[in-house]
Amino acid sequence: MNRLDRLRASVARLRGYSSARMEASGGRVLLNANESPWDDGHHCNRYPDPQPPALLSALAALYGVPADCLLVGRGSDEPIDLLTRAYCEARADAIVISQPTFAMYRVAAELQDAKVLDVPLDPARGFALDIDAVTASALDPRVKLVYVCTPNNPSGGVVARDDLLRLAARLDGHALVVVDEAYVEFSAQGSVADAVVEGANLAVLRTLSKAHGLAGARIGTLIAQPALIAVLRRLLAPYPLPTPSVEVALQALTPAGVERARQRIAAVVAERERVAARLAAEAGVRRVLPSAANFLAFQVDDADSCYRALLAAGVVVRQVGHYLGLGGFLRVSIGRAEENDAFLAALASALAITVSARSAA
Ligand SMILES: *Cc1c(COP(=O)(O)O)cnc(C)c1O
Repeated sequence: MNRLDRLRASVARLRGYSSARMEASGGRVLLNANESPWDDGHHCNRYPDPQPPALLSALAALYGVPADCLLVGRGSDEPIDLLTRAYCEARADAIVISQPTFAMYRVAAELQDAKVLDVPLDPARGFALDIDAVTASALDPRVKLVYVCTPNNPSGGVVARDDLLRLAARLDGHALVVVDEAYVEFSAQGSVADAVVEGANLAVLRTLSKAHGLAGARIGTLIAQPALIAVLRRLLAPYPLPTPSVEVALQALTPAGVERARQRIAAVVAERERVAARLAAEAGVRRVLPSAANFLAFQVDDADSCYRALLAAGVVVRQVGHYLGLGGFLRVSIGRAEENDAFLAALASALAITVSARSAA
């Protein structure tokens, strides 16, 4: 079964923009792109390579996959957008998501005028993914893409590797399973990128924004089979990756950079466990969701006043109460130890105030 059959016909035919940088390689006197010949030390006078080979090979080594399986974009948000536009015919096709989850899958679908089918995570079972219900929903002939975020943002839980592979196999030839692994570095469970290379009906999203500390550089990667990557590269903006971003990414991916990231990931995981235990022991905290990511979702009696009290103390957390099933929850990112301590202290006094206000009322 050729999985490219499910792409929009117009996308499969599209030739894409052919930039000066793509048409010519080599040469010494570069007079083909209407650039300025003067480099003022920032290496930005030339248009960047659309997919710089050095970055592709560094990311291929990091993720343990061949370079022709990679599409590098402006964050993972760009591959999400490209996948949606490549697969979903407006007003005809659909995606499947499982709320509460990352909002960009839905936003990209709405922008493309594709339908969003929701198979919610089950709050009673620790926000687990219901694989059978997702499969049943995804067999709807309109469905082209199924998003699974693991570890999931904002609930923090993981989907077992066997479940992902089973879902991918059951939907093969029908809908592509897109596994968002933005937080996988913080999880004890590894990536499923190896299964992509072996031909599973999967695509994987990775990013340098979280564990590699480069949210400001906007470097996200889609790992998929080479035939799909070749199509998606034709849809990319002409020069998506700014030269300074590529340069900091290459620095972060040197052996020293990767080792520093590894140490920081270990520090974050240790801090996550410490903060989770402190939250669980806090009288005003009703529930802390187990997290395999670099954040914790926790429930309090009055999330709005708690949020405002934290803010007044200078600590900014995320309000996630509007997500399906997460009423009363806040999400806190794991920071440096002293930042986490500041959060815990501010939370303790915020909860003392709201609890005493309640008993006074
Ligand atoms: C943060 C995050 C991303 C990463 O987005 P970038 O565009 O790569 O910065 C992707 N998916 C999820 C679920 C996230 O929380």
